[in-house]
Amino acid sequence: MRPAVFFDRDDTLIRNTTLPPPANPHPAWKPGDLSDPSRVELLPGALQACRLLRDAGFSLVVVSNQGCVARGSATIEDVQAVNARVGELLVDDAGNPMIERFAFCPYHPQGNVPEFTREHRLRKPNPGMILDAAAELGLDLSRSWLVGDMPRDCEAGINADLPPERCLLIGEHGEVPDALAAARLILSQSR
Ligand SMILES: [Mg+2]
Repeated sequence: MRPAVFFDRDDTLIRNTTLPPPANPHPAWKPGDLSDPSRVELLPGALQACRLLRDAGFSLVVVSNQGCVARGSATIEDVQAVNARVGELLVDDAGNPMIERFAFCPYHPQGNVPEFTREHRLRKPNPGMILDAAAELGLDLSRSWLVGDMPRDCEAGINADLPPERCLLIGEHGEVPDALAAARLILSQSR
C-alpha cells in the first residue's frame, strides 16, 4: 500500500481567507467561501511541495471542509469547479495532474440549506474524508502524513490514526511555515 500526504486546501495549497470579497457576494458569504474558479491562486511553494512529494512516491489527496455549501454561498458544482481549477494548476512537469482525489465536506451544523445542515462524519476534525480515501485508494495510513493550517486539520489526521507527529500544522503557529517546508520535513523523515 502506498503512503499519502493529505493536504488541507484553503490557506494550505491555495490563497483563501486573505482574498478580497467577491464582487457580488451571496448574502450568506463569509471570508473563506470560494465559489469562483477564476479566483484560485496557488500559495507560494505549493506546486513545488506537491512535485517533491509525488516524485518521492506519495499519493496526494486534498481533504477540505466546504461549509459554504451548507451556508448556501456556493453549490456542490461550484466547489467541484474550484477543485478542478486547483487540479489544473497542480500538475507535474509533464503536465499530468498530481492530486489523486479532492475530497470535500459540504456539511456544516449551522447552515441555511437543510440538506447540508448537520454535523457529519466527513467534517474535519472527524476523520471520514481521510478514512474513505484510504479505503478507496488503498493508502497506508501508518506511513501517511497530513498538512494543514488549522488545528482541526491535524485533529482529523489524529482521529484517522495517523501518527500525531505526522500531522503537520503550517503557518505562524505551526511547526513549519508553509507547504513546501512541510514537504521538505516529510522527505527528510522518509528516507
Ligand atoms: Mg485551511
